[in-house]
Amino acid sequence: MQKQQLQAEVDKRRTFAIISHPDAGKTTITEQLLLFGGIVREAGTVKAKKSGNFAKSDWMEIEQKRGISVTSSVMQFDYAGKRVNILDTPGHEDFSEDTYRTLMAVDSAVMVIDAAKGIEPQTKKLFQICKMRGIPIFTFMNKLDRDSRPPMELVDQLEDVLGIEAYPMNWPIGSGRIFKGLYDRYNHRIEKFQPESDGRTFLPLNDDGEITEPNDLEGDDIYQEAKDEMDLISEAGNQFDPEKIAHGDQTPVFFGSALVNFGVQTFLDAYLKLAPAPGLHRTTDGTEVEPTADEFSGFIFKIQANMNPQHRDRIAFVRICSGEFTRGMDVTLNRTQKAIRLSNVTEFMANTRENVQTAVAGDIIGLYDTGNFQIGDTIYTGKKALQFEKLPQFTPELFMRVSPKNVMKQKSFHKGIQQLVQEGAIQLYTTYDTGQYILGAVGQLQFDVFQFRMQNEYNSDVLMEPMGHKIARWINPDQLDEKMSSSRNILVKDLQGEPLFLFENQFAERWFQSKYPDVKLTAKL
Ligand code: GDP
Repeated sequence: MQKQQLQAEVDKRRTFAIISHPDAGKTTITEQLLLFGGIVREAGTVKAKKSGNFAKSDWMEIEQKRGISVTSSVMQFDYAGKRVNILDTPGHEDFSEDTYRTLMAVDSAVMVIDAAKGIEPQTKKLFQICKMRGIPIFTFMNKLDRDSRPPMELVDQLEDVLGIEAYPMNWPIGSGRIFKGLYDRYNHRIEKFQPESDGRTFLPLNDDGEITEPNDLEGDDIYQEAKDEMDLISEAGNQFDPEKIAHGDQTPVFFGSALVNFGVQTFLDAYLKLAPAPGLHRTTDGTEVEPTADEFSGFIFKIQANMNPQHRDRIAFVRICSGEFTRGMDVTLNRTQKAIRLSNVTEFMANTRENVQTAVAGDIIGLYDTGNFQIGDTIYTGKKALQFEKLPQFTPELFMRVSPKNVMKQKSFHKGIQQLVQEGAIQLYTTYDTGQYILGAVGQLQFDVFQFRMQNEYNSDVLMEPMGHKIARWINPDQLDEKMSSSRNILVKDLQGEPLFLFENQFAERWFQSKYPDVKLTAKL
């Protein structure tokens, strides 16, 4: 591909994830976006993934579910001259480290908030990871067709709870049964909510923010209240600041309802204008790789195991950082310096016929893997070795003691654990005193998958003893005294040999801190 053409392709890309708490409306909004993108809603795309309420022990069904989630884990469509990649961030019982790692592969994030509930715990966790990366974060306040919290309170919450400046792009005129639409200061118009008619109707605003056409809103108390609030915000609120938005220090806020498809397109149009195309990616030696560089490069941010024992392959998800992917190309896997031919590849492509199918920076490809890849691996073409910066470690919250059921089968047990831990499927800790294994995960599914794969791939039955929620805090080895350990703060080592405590709860952590005020405890992300 010519440089110019590559540049044009990269400029078109918008790669993002939707972060939210379960039930805020992520699935509903995703379906609306796919609809705008002309992707027909099919049974078995996004909704099907959620419809099942499977028993955890039923492996065939988990496999089915995971099978579906491979196809819906990256959704691509074309809209308004842009090529959009939405990366799914599994929630509910699928919540795992993969959910966090997916956020390493996007260029921006959309935060969906239930306007009746405000900011909820999972949103907060996912937000913090986006914030750490410094990527732009756009907010969609959802469910305005229901009674919602006062918009001013919702916007204040962004600043107070998340610590991000908010810039309302539009403002709701009422909510629930008295929802009348949006005062859209970004587009200088009123978007009227008319549930009885499908179409969107707009009333233009003049330079003073007044409606110029005959209308039934002026004189309406609810409208007047919205307008007064918007005026107040325009005078005393934050200035629109593209620089801050680019660094995730300010979030543009949109209101609407995904269910009745109101305000979603307004959001999408503005979002695609403001969100960044793929940018530079930093390597471990401090250089930055341009998305339009001639050589292909990318990194693996997630590995999904196939739960079917007949198909033990896995899919390694690659975020392309530069160059152009072509099927059958030879790349180098940096960690091993081995050459690998990319022939068995899933492309998550927009299914439009008129477009030439190319995968460039911002796009995701899935490599069928028989054990070559690890999370964080870099692949590249060309002579110059490349390693993108390490993916961060995330602090697990759930813990299990693990041991082999059959003590005669220690060997397969150790082999299995080692490989699964290497792959990044789960975190492993060993206790200081007895050297016992403890597994750490972000979500329950990681344990279930671990147990299943130990059995199926390594023929190792494992005993899992839940320890429940714990707070993991690393301690500087120089400050460590093994006597600090107790049943309420278990001392363990991570894979790198770094010491940490698993605290029973916040009280235990506070008690520890008051007893050892000079000891510094740190969380990973
Ligand atoms: P997810 O868990 O974030 O993917 O949430 P879903 O998209 O599955 O939505 C959860 C529930 O909220 C479903 O029953 C949706 O129909 C409902 N829902 C989603 N968006 C809206 C909305 O804008 N208004 C109302 N009233 N309900 C909504």
